[in-house]
Amino acid sequence: MNPLDPKEFRRQGHMIIDFLADYYQNIGKYPVLSQVEPGYLKNLMPEFAPLSPEPIETILQDLQQHIVPGITHWQSPNYFAYFPSSGSTAGFAGEMLSTGFNLVGFNWVSSPAATELESIVMDWLGQMLNLPKAFLFSGSGGGVLLGTTCEAILVTLVAARDKMLSQIGRESICELVVYVSDQTHCAVQKAAHIIGIHPKNIRVIKTIKSTSFTLSPESLSSTIQTDVQNGLVPCYLCVTVGTTSTTAIDPLGPLCMVAKKYGMWVHVDAAYAGSVCVCPEFRHFIDGIENANSFSFNAHKWFLTNLDCCCLWVKDPASVIKSLSTHTVYLENSATDSKRVVDYKDWQITLSRRFRALKLWLVLKSYGVVNLRNFLRSHVEMAKTFEGLVKRDKRFEIFVPRNLAVVCFRLLPSAVAKISNGGSKTEDVAKISNGGSKTENVAKISNGGIKLEDVANGINRRLLDSINGSGTVYMTHAVVGGVFVIRCAIGATLTHTTHVIMAWKTVQEHADAVLNY
Ligand SMILES: *Cc1c(COP(=O)(O)O)cnc(C)c1O
Repeated sequence: MNPLDPKEFRRQGHMIIDFLADYYQNIGKYPVLSQVEPGYLKNLMPEFAPLSPEPIETILQDLQQHIVPGITHWQSPNYFAYFPSSGSTAGFAGEMLSTGFNLVGFNWVSSPAATELESIVMDWLGQMLNLPKAFLFSGSGGGVLLGTTCEAILVTLVAARDKMLSQIGRESICELVVYVSDQTHCAVQKAAHIIGIHPKNIRVIKTIKSTSFTLSPESLSSTIQTDVQNGLVPCYLCVTVGTTSTTAIDPLGPLCMVAKKYGMWVHVDAAYAGSVCVCPEFRHFIDGIENANSFSFNAHKWFLTNLDCCCLWVKDPASVIKSLSTHTVYLENSATDSKRVVDYKDWQITLSRRFRALKLWLVLKSYGVVNLRNFLRSHVEMAKTFEGLVKRDKRFEIFVPRNLAVVCFRLLPSAVAKISNGGSKTEDVAKISNGGSKTENVAKISNGGIKLEDVANGINRRLLDSINGSGTVYMTHAVVGGVFVIRCAIGATLTHTTHVIMAWKTVQEHADAVLNY
């Protein structure tokens, strides 16, 4: 057996590419959300691993027959769930090359090109985003490619913790406070938990609808003041540019001004929205970045770079390195000793690391800044189209103003109220809101036992289930300020305006059914 026989590699490699090309060609034919039941695969697979080899032809048949039905098709043009995971030929090619070389570039000497290309593309990308020079290698900062934003947050939080503790003493860890809003990604709380921030020292500041669920600098300031009066030490603030639920844009500049007074670390999590800041007309979302300490976005979300690829820039790499560097005899080498190289193992949690820069390099070279910008803009335009369609149907509302290519909408409580006043149809409301058939609940609605908002939440949830059960499109939800909203996140690479229009038609048809028209 030769598991890396070049002839067989070529033959099978071509077969896989053909398989995937056919997959992309036919992707619109599959239900976007996989419709299998939990445990479906166990019945289809043998109980034990095969003792003898099977040919690739049989394996691909198995794949098509058993695996593909259990896949939710994130690359489908009808995929509008969560955030996009926009793949591309360049992103795939970069991933393929990286996997092909299969090198482990933990430090410079383990593969100089892996480190140097990474530093170069991070500076390229930083320039595209018009980041201050202080974040770039050409200034005094630098960038690193991690797997995901969760890692970027953990890395920066560890650095922030140690930086603060070096000033106030290691025994003071119980005094450190981390600040987030109720819209901040749960990754921050998880990271705080991992690094030993006391749960009672995580401040989750409430946001409200009238300010589009953004973090208010005034709320932040008063929360910090109370903590300081109580002898606690503000350590880390996560500002979100493009929240996961509604793509709210926290006011970065004013928030940094508050944080600056206390010498705390500000991380800017722009996991989704960071990409679009390469367009000059959207760059203002990160105005004020010069006063932050670190900034990250996911190129694997909306930047044509196949999973995984999180771009993190820090102003003070030394603080990260101080927290995360390791020294072992077997990794000693003269390049490291010369202090003229970057050893990325000291910028991340793990030791081993992939050659992710290839992906980003291929994406940047293959499409160029101009096409990347236009690609992002096209999704924003499609979202405007979708938004316009929602606005024309008076049963619906746009729940929060659209910032980018995510539209948050719902059936209005008034549309729901209409059916509850429509005589015989009251029973449907009860069914919908409870999933049962107790008509006594209708009475509760009119007596105020169940609030109309709760009924609206139930019906919107039912509408979304109905849409996704059809397999035609896939959207997901958020609950903000107690309200259940449906999110239409546009950004799949294959999506065109026609798909967006069809998606809205699907929503309307299911709304007709759910409202029992
Ligand atoms: C998607 C997202 C994350 C998590 O990203 P991972 O790369 O999956 O860790 C964090 N923050 C925001 C704002 C996000 O939208």
